[in-house]
Amino acid sequence: MEIKKRVELLAPAGNMEKLKTAFHFGADACFVGGSAFNLRGMSSNFKNKELKEAVDYVHSLGKKIYVTLNIFAHNTEIEYMPRFIKKLDEFGVDAVIVADLGVFQMVRQYAPNLKIHVSTQANNTNWMSVKTWKDMGAKRVILAREMSLKEIKTIREKVPDVEIEVFIHGAMCMAYSGRCLLSNYFTNRDANRGICAQDCRWNYKVIAEGHEETGAHDIVENEEGTYMFNAKDLCSIEFIDKVLETGVDSLKIEGRMKSIYYNSTVVKQYKRALDNYYSGNYEYNPDWLKELKTISHRQYSNGFYLGPTSEKDQNYETGLSYSQTYRLVANVLEKVDTNKYKIQIRNKVYATETLELVRPIGDAVKFKVENFLNTKNDEFQEYVNPNTIAIIETDVEMGPMDLIRIKLPEGQSDSDMDTTEF
Ligand code: SF4
Repeated sequence: MEIKKRVELLAPAGNMEKLKTAFHFGADACFVGGSAFNLRGMSSNFKNKELKEAVDYVHSLGKKIYVTLNIFAHNTEIEYMPRFIKKLDEFGVDAVIVADLGVFQMVRQYAPNLKIHVSTQANNTNWMSVKTWKDMGAKRVILAREMSLKEIKTIREKVPDVEIEVFIHGAMCMAYSGRCLLSNYFTNRDANRGICAQDCRWNYKVIAEGHEETGAHDIVENEEGTYMFNAKDLCSIEFIDKVLETGVDSLKIEGRMKSIYYNSTVVKQYKRALDNYYSGNYEYNPDWLKELKTISHRQYSNGFYLGPTSEKDQNYETGLSYSQTYRLVANVLEKVDTNKYKIQIRNKVYATETLELVRPIGDAVKFKVENFLNTKNDEFQEYVNPNTIAIIETDVEMGPMDLIRIKLPEGQSDSDMDTTEF
């Protein structure tokens, strides 16, 4: 029997907590932003010291860490780049993610042994581009998101000796990734610097030049408004077996700015699907998608993978299209005594509510507590507020970095901080 090489499950990590959570829930590798030159201007990112700690932590697990260096650099940034490149090399990062040809060349020059992954921002949509990057020294090419599985398979066949990475989950742009200037024009926030204002989710109207007094006119899509650019999120869980059959090496999850609940859930469900696939008896489990619907998302679509996109891949009804059926209320810090656990509260929660423990393996486990012991005032409380450390008593076994969630009442929805990731 042919033994298939297991694909890498690559998770986003906007900070150290997200990084640790992603690995706890089963990621094989994480991508992070350093203190400069990446597309997450608003993400907390990693300062040099933290980055070094992160590299050491990830390597102690035997896993990998990649650092984004994928801005399109302007002249003023070029002089600072070599120092940063050398630092990343010194820290021992497993690869840098690069989009700009000049940056690519500088990595080759200043850190010749540092592996380079070509960013999706470089918009590689054909095998000749992929081969060219490979010939120039790239270890991996992250394909454009705007491709079908058939095209990806052809690239794999034509260029077998380079690693290929594809996005499997997360937000999409209405333009080729990174080639949209809506945010730059309207808000002076550059998507290529990770501070996109999500202008594609806005409701648009028309104002007639010279007749401004007539006001803004609807461009009629429907009675809800005109959300003509508002792409749904990519979710490939229902056809992940077909993605794997293209022969790609790495599956990337978008969302460095999303919450630990988002990160843990997406990693866990795709890992479950991969475990199932590599068991040799692949069978799609609808629970994977059900769980992915518990996190903040804008309705899911297949992206470009299964064929041309249509109106079904856009949300024309509203820009506030998030839905999320569960809320993270705490993360487990440690076991402090028999059946007693110290937890960090993220959202207000009452002891009357039914809690659910989310662990890396297995279904969520429902449980209840009688009260919360607030460690600050040493009082037993019926509810606890965010940013509180509390002790709970339960016979449900839990471990550090497990998460506790509650189901939101019907019709209520939260949303994570959200911008589109490249
Ligand atoms: S997410 Fe930002 S960069 Fe992407 S299409 Fe929307 S406005 Fe443009």
